[in-house]
Amino acid sequence: MALQGDFLNHADTLRRLSVETVLVKTPADLDVDGIVIPGGESTTMSMLLKSSGLYAPLNDLLRNGMPALGTCAGMILMAKSVTDGRPDQVTLDAIDIAVRRNGFGRQVASFETELNVSGIKGGPMKAVFIRAPVVVKVAEDVEVLARVLYNFADSSERSVPVVCRQEKVIVSSFHPELVGEDRLHQLFLRLL
Ligand code: GLN
Repeated sequence: MALQGDFLNHADTLRRLSVETVLVKTPADLDVDGIVIPGGESTTMSMLLKSSGLYAPLNDLLRNGMPALGTCAGMILMAKSVTDGRPDQVTLDAIDIAVRRNGFGRQVASFETELNVSGIKGGPMKAVFIRAPVVVKVAEDVEVLARVLYNFADSSERSVPVVCRQEKVIVSSFHPELVGEDRLHQLFLRLL
């Protein structure tokens, strides 16, 4: 999805993996086997989803099982519910999780770490969190593929899910596309 955000980094990753890539901006571009929703600003993407006419057809495709990968803002857009969003912010409701926008803190609380993701071989993944969402609720049939132990501003240390999957939808709170990390995309491509 190429409405806003770091979609070109995702396109580069997919091309590196020899995947034919379409920059989806209008409903006519939706003749695809799967979709990646990038990091960026979910409130802006939400508005653009409506004004571009993509919202309804994309919703239908996801509901019919189209594979999808969402990173950061992409996770927010695909979550079932969002707190701390704009009141008019829409979600695609493609994965049964609840997220809190900017839940790790403000820009200064952006951080980088390494983490193991279940189903991904070859050692820990480099994970960059930028004003990332915190997953606050996960339905029973959602698999948590990775977690992070984080010291929140209220001094509580909590382990929070950062990669989740439900059927053909994978979401991460961080940005593999910004650090040349291809393995989450490979996991997504295996769902196509
Ligand atoms: N805080 C952003 C939002 O709401 C997400 C940030 C990101 O994608 N890096 O939508």
